[in-house]
Amino acid sequence: MSSLATYRAMVLERPGERLQVQELPLRPPSPGEVRIRILACAVCRTDLHVVDGELPKPKLPIVPGHEIIGVVDAVAPPGSPQSSTSTFPTWQVGQRVGVPWLGWTCGQCDYCKRGQENLCDQAQFTGYTRDGGYAEYVYADPRYIFAVDESYAPAEAAPLMCAGLIGYRSYRMAGDGRRLGIYGFGAAAHLLVQLARYEGREVFAFTRPGDHTAQEFARQLGATWAGDSDQPPPVPLDAAIIFAPVGALVPLALRAVRKGGVVVCGGIHMSDIPSFPYRWLWEERVLRSVANLTRRDGEEFLRLAPQVPIRTQTRTYPLEAANDALDDLRHGRLHGAAVLIP
Ligand SMILES: [Zn+2]
Ligand SMILES: [Zn+2]
Repeated sequence: MSSLATYRAMVLERPGERLQVQELPLRPPSPGEVRIRILACAVCRTDLHVVDGELPKPKLPIVPGHEIIGVVDAVAPPGSPQSSTSTFPTWQVGQRVGVPWLGWTCGQCDYCKRGQENLCDQAQFTGYTRDGGYAEYVYADPRYIFAVDESYAPAEAAPLMCAGLIGYRSYRMAGDGRRLGIYGFGAAAHLLVQLARYEGREVFAFTRPGDHTAQEFARQLGATWAGDSDQPPPVPLDAAIIFAPVGALVPLALRAVRKGGVVVCGGIHMSDIPSFPYRWLWEERVLRSVANLTRRDGEEFLRLAPQVPIRTQTRTYPLEAANDALDDLRHGRLHGAAVLIP
């Protein structure tokens, strides 16, 4: 049992190692922080990339996790910069909030000034360069957290915070064509298919070749068609989003979209893209990536999600089983999202 002065967290000491249970000091929030008691934290593929050392320069040791749902537990005391600056929102103790991947931006660089805070040169990321949500508590900048609709149970809402938010940014970047392909039918795809249907679009779901369970799952959620990723769709697509971290899907997706179609790479890490003939890109096909999220993406998506309403499929694990949850994600044993409950 935790004492009052510490909280439990799953900590990565070095990439490639397993996470360890540790007791960290529970301190009051510093100026510019809120302390959040965590109710649930979903496990994202990006967490695997952090744990496996595929992303450069993580903070070490680090508490992974950036799909956090919790309640505001303490705010920095009055008279601190938090309360004297008007741009800092006021959060009430007990309020339901979510903490996403984007943890902090500088507000000063050209990207921040252009409304592309997702590309900020100094950006900090939850569970990567700031401690995240595989824990009982997290400290966050109150400007980068969101109110979360209480119609969702905490575990249900957690996957919305990254699979949902960054998935939503990818979805918007794919344009408004009617026929949307999704490669990799995991956490993000299972949310987006619901949104796409709500908006009257058709979804074509591509899974690992032979993964009939995932294909059936996609059809149950409303996909018009589901099939193997190495097969062409039955009709040319207006756009495709690739969530699977497999570079070989890029040329396949380009071949699946019509002239002028868009292919969006929605993951932070991907294996190398094999070379392909220029004619697969020709005719104004567009290939782009999506990085991180802006607060605007989060606000839009979290307003939209309860209207659809977007339902999440989750498998919960106790906090201490974080390594098992990561292994299950790594080996493709999940349909839907793993969620840690402290
Ligand atoms: Zn910036
Ligand atoms: Zn994520």
